[in-house]
Amino acid sequence: MQLKLPGMVSTSMDPVRIAVVGAGVVGLSTAMCVSKLVPRCSITVISDKFSPDTTSDVAAGMLIPHVYPNTPIPTLKQWFQETFDHLFAIANSAEAEDAGVHLVSGWQIFQSIPAEEVPFWADVVLGFRKMTKAELKKFPQHVFGHAFTTLKCESPAYLPWLEKRLKGSGVLILTRRIGDLWELHPSFDVVVNCSGLGSRQLAQDSEMFPMRGQVLNVRAPWVKHFIRDGSGLTYIYPGTSNVILGGTRQQGDWNLSPDAEISRGIFSRCCALEPSLQGACDIREKVGLRPFRPAGVRLQTEFLAQDGRRLPVVHHYGHGSGGISVHWGTALEAARLVSECVQAPRTPTPKSNL
Ligand SMILES: Cc1cc2nc3c(=O)[nH]c(=O)nc-3n(C[C@H](O)[C@H](O)[C@H](O)COP(=O)(O)OP(=O)(O)OC[C@H]3O[C@@H](n4cnc5c(N)ncnc54)[C@H](O)[C@@H]3O)c2cc1C
Repeated sequence: MQLKLPGMVSTSMDPVRIAVVGAGVVGLSTAMCVSKLVPRCSITVISDKFSPDTTSDVAAGMLIPHVYPNTPIPTLKQWFQETFDHLFAIANSAEAEDAGVHLVSGWQIFQSIPAEEVPFWADVVLGFRKMTKAELKKFPQHVFGHAFTTLKCESPAYLPWLEKRLKGSGVLILTRRIGDLWELHPSFDVVVNCSGLGSRQLAQDSEMFPMRGQVLNVRAPWVKHFIRDGSGLTYIYPGTSNVILGGTRQQGDWNLSPDAEISRGIFSRCCALEPSLQGACDIREKVGLRPFRPAGVRLQTEFLAQDGRRLPVVHHYGHGSGGISVHWGTALEAARLVSECVQAPRTPTPKSNL
């Protein structure tokens, strides 16, 4: 599809034209934060896939942060706190059901005492405490645990909700695959790259690789508490209409087809923690490729240049296993980087080629 924009010369008086590439949780939240933080801009979200076909749609959506090796803990905690506050406000509003955001209580359990008995995010979630002996009786193989209330953000509802709000505030949404970010010059003044795993090609980032995750979506409405093994490999996350059972972390595996053997393993590990799941029905398998980057999230401005012309690109990708947990915090940071690009003096750009 050809992108048609008015073939006018852009001057410093025109709204700044911002393209956000990607429509997973990172792209849509970034577009939202840019629309709040950057005055007088026009925003276009461009993506080859939208909900329900993104990796974000497969996520269990639990707000429990993952550590990124190159991100200082105070920064990570700030991203998590900002995301938690944003989603907590939605959970407490009349929009909660439409947005697919709700509170959920449960346990994170360990077979041996973890090095960090109190994680850095303990005072962000609600009511964090060590599990009592009575609670631990439910898990005879485990010796220690955390009990807390956190949020669950269900992307199959949250992404369309964000998209609707973006459209309502005048953001243009385009379905298109981008082969090279330079294609967006000169139609846009600033590009935000939120293409997740697509950044392997778009940002030529060979460090990006898939961390395959397979989950089961089952009906078991009697399961009300989440249960997460401290390793993060086995989990039971009840949601608005279904329970998500997980999971796997398969490094470098691009296979999007469910594996029946893996599904059997997930089901039996989850039943070992919650035997009543033997009665679960409507079992559906789902697979997603987490956009994994060993160093962690890339939040950085790069200036692409060709023949003396420049295109600022704010990179915002590489959220791996914990993108839902920190998306709003990193989107605010990306929007601040966009704001810096916009404040830099603009030179008139020639007529659009697209
Ligand atoms: C099984 C599983 C369970 C998970 N559970 C949790 C959880 O409980 N909590 C949590 O915090 N996180 C969880 N995650 C991780 C979370 O899903 C990711 O961190 C997050 O979804 C990444 O979002 P994203 O927007 O960067 O990527 P994506 O959702 O993959 O979005 C990328 C977007 O870019 C677009 N795109 C890519 N290339 C191009 C291109 N060339 N041109 C145009 N568009 C392009 C794609 O179409 C897509 O719209 C889980 C992931 C999986 C797989």
